[in-house]
Amino acid sequence: MKFTPETYKILDEPMTSFIDSDEIWDYINNTVSTPERVREVIAKSLAKNRLSLEETAVLINATDPELIQEIKEGAKTLKQTIYGNRIVLFAPLYVGNKCSNNCTYCGFRASNSQQVRKTLDHDELVAEVAALEDNGQKRLILVYGEHPQYSPEFIAETVRTAYSVKKGNGEIRRVNINAAPLDIEGFRMVKEAGIGTFQVFQETYHREAYKTYHLRGKKADFDYRLTSLDRAQEAGLDDVGIGALFGLYDWRFEVLGLVRHTNHLEACYNVGPHTISFPRIKDASMLDMGDKYFVSDEDFARLVAILRLAVPYTGMILTAREPAQLRTELIQYGVSQIDGGTKIEIGSYVEKEKNHDLNKGQFRINDDRSLNEIIDDLLDQGMLPSFCTSCYRAGRTGEHFMEFSVPGFIKRFCTPNAMLTLAEYLEDYAPAETAEKGWKVIEDNMTDVSEQMQKSLRERLERVKQGERDLYF
Ligand code: SAM
Ligand code: SF4
Repeated sequence: MKFTPETYKILDEPMTSFIDSDEIWDYINNTVSTPERVREVIAKSLAKNRLSLEETAVLINATDPELIQEIKEGAKTLKQTIYGNRIVLFAPLYVGNKCSNNCTYCGFRASNSQQVRKTLDHDELVAEVAALEDNGQKRLILVYGEHPQYSPEFIAETVRTAYSVKKGNGEIRRVNINAAPLDIEGFRMVKEAGIGTFQVFQETYHREAYKTYHLRGKKADFDYRLTSLDRAQEAGLDDVGIGALFGLYDWRFEVLGLVRHTNHLEACYNVGPHTISFPRIKDASMLDMGDKYFVSDEDFARLVAILRLAVPYTGMILTAREPAQLRTELIQYGVSQIDGGTKIEIGSYVEKEKNHDLNKGQFRINDDRSLNEIIDDLLDQGMLPSFCTSCYRAGRTGEHFMEFSVPGFIKRFCTPNAMLTLAEYLEDYAPAETAEKGWKVIEDNMTDVSEQMQKSLRERLERVKQGERDLYF
């Protein structure tokens, strides 16, 4: 039987029943994890299958260091064989930090009188986008607090503004959103503005824990938040991102919550989330919470590897909340997108200096390298930094699924398109040394492009050198 939103009605169950704390704890407490089972589960994932909750719990319950190492190696193999060397780059752009909610972990919370409140006006937004384009960015995520001023109309308008800015050869080709959940009409409105992914993080999937962090405002309603991406689907917005804020509750529970949410979306709408985010709580202005559920670097690496294996064809995002060295390690376990050149204080991309004033941002970032420093570092590791937006613009939706399941898709589309966008960056923004490295990495990765594509790819790369832009397959 296909599970649809209707099924919940027939069963007389609320839509939110897909998250059942007792069921999740039952998996954690009662799933036996022998070395044989762990290896079986890793093998199932490497054969391109999404894992069940029980199978994910097998990986979560593996505590022997050698088995944990095998899980990490499995995730590495999956990443290499399926995604190859590509890593997609983007930048967050905070539009406004006014907020009516009081999430105890967030510097923007209403009760924090130290936070300097600001919303970019039209000209300031244009200036920020132009500064980002000058750095070489092509993909943005616009971020907002939850406030009556940040209505769907306002969000849609800021999206249109971001797309309208063209500085030199620069342009923004994909705008994603991280904002408060909307109603169906609201989702429709922002979709019409041409957004990519709409992200809503559940923060914690544990209903009781959720209550203790979300003390007032609309966000205090766990169910409204949990069903937000169902409303997005109803509005025809099928490109959505989920996430959990690690450090609010037991990380094992949150991993299963994310997998369960993924299953739910897949079962009901035939399309899972495009991306999963797993931010870890960082210091914030006047932060007032304990560290009972603090997630160590070791456990964090473990959970990233487990998630990679559990949902092999979902994009995974790791942000500049985490320090450079840890990001380098975690990318190997299957992260597919990172931000670069990140500044989160409102209006700070136009400033030359780095600003780390906690009262002007949501939290502290720990990787403040410029976009070029990050690209340089990725190239040193032989990775292929990508600004690709072609699937989305060519109407190939569900691209991660395609990458994964359509034979030869990566060799025909993803790798060539990654190279073409990297080539643009190298021509327009990179210092000579990075450009030299970058062209070499492009050449080194040619073997990952199908033979019949190589000729036309080389011809297009030459056209990029001659000044043409936005060529893709
Ligand atoms: N205000 C909207 C909302 O709450 O849905 C947009 C999201 S908020 C601007 C972006 C995300 O940052 C939150 O969903 C939360 O997961 C994360 N976040 C909040 N405080 C944080 C902190 N102290 N450290 C790391 N991440 C944090
Ligand atoms: Fe506001 Fe979002 Fe921060 Fe909560 S997480 S205080 S809703 S900006």
